[in-house]
Amino acid sequence: MTLEKSIYDLSQEELKSFLVKNNISPDFSTTIFRNLYKNNKHEMPISKKIMAILRKNFNVDLPVIHTVSKSPDGTVKFLMMFSDNKSVETVLIPFNKRFTVCLSSQVGCAMKCSFCYTGTMGLSRHLKSGEIIGQYIVAANYLDVELGLKTMAPNIVFMGQGEPLHNSDEVLKAIQIFMEPFGLAMGPRQMTLSTAGYLPGIKKLNDFPKINIALSLHSPFNSIRKELIPINQHFPLEDIFKELDGLDLMKRQFIVYEYLLIDGLNDRVEDADELLKLLGERKSAINLIPFNPFPGSNYKRPSDEKVEAFKEMLVERKLRTMIRTTKGSDILAACGQLKS
Ligand code: SAH
Repeated sequence: MTLEKSIYDLSQEELKSFLVKNNISPDFSTTIFRNLYKNNKHEMPISKKIMAILRKNFNVDLPVIHTVSKSPDGTVKFLMMFSDNKSVETVLIPFNKRFTVCLSSQVGCAMKCSFCYTGTMGLSRHLKSGEIIGQYIVAANYLDVELGLKTMAPNIVFMGQGEPLHNSDEVLKAIQIFMEPFGLAMGPRQMTLSTAGYLPGIKKLNDFPKINIALSLHSPFNSIRKELIPINQHFPLEDIFKELDGLDLMKRQFIVYEYLLIDGLNDRVEDADELLKLLGERKSAINLIPFNPFPGSNYKRPSDEKVEAFKEMLVERKLRTMIRTTKGSDILAACGQLKS
């Protein structure tokens, strides 16, 4: 098993210090970044000599695509494999002429949410920042080369396998590298991080660039939420909201509350009433996600009519609400269906 440092783990500053230590001008870091991240196709190639030094010191490989599944709705799911043969799923989701890429942050997940397929695997290991970035590059290249879709660079959601805030140092590092001006030069608002409510990580969010934040809420009642998301026993809603209320949001920034809808469990009038109490005064947007079944799951997806009716209840209560249309469920690529 080789898990040596990847070149994609490096910020440009770190690359500069490496170059200086090796008696190479730090100015080459820009050329190297542009080549690695293909920010400028006409960039001078990296010289053979420098490339050899980089290869000697770093793993320069990207994750390998093991399998690709395509849904007629345009969703593409990859099983990507790393150098230790562990794999994660990465999903490209079409959205308004543009794609969003759903990145994994861990192999498996430790959260064991009762409605999630990934949770049944348990946690195998955290991903390094370079492995998170590698998924993006491979997926974006696939769009460009395989599908010939020269669309704008995909936006990012950290909603694949894993709990991103349970691996917050590497996820933060990846976000910072995604923003490198000579790399992918992404803006923080092009990235959304979704958390199950992992409090130690939420406490660190003020140190992150101003990315979009989503909380998997799923119920306004601790009694129900802890059945769905076991870590709610340790990190109940009061504590989570105390932290979220302390985040300095941008002017028009909302926190997105993901709300998994399970038939008969959390789609009742009292749920809507309690959601109003919880979110009415907060800068919030609710994203309803009808439960996506997977092999062996016990919960039931509500009918489209019921989903629509619950949305209406929230809209009547003046809560900003959207239904997240399910994409890729025929290839088990939808929310909560990822398992490698
Ligand atoms: N660990 C993070 C991100 C991964 S899951 C989190 O919990 O937020 C991304 C979203 O998919 C979460 O809102 C999660 O609750 C939801 N999800 C998980 N399993 C699902 C399922 N079977 N059907 C619908 N949504 C699901």
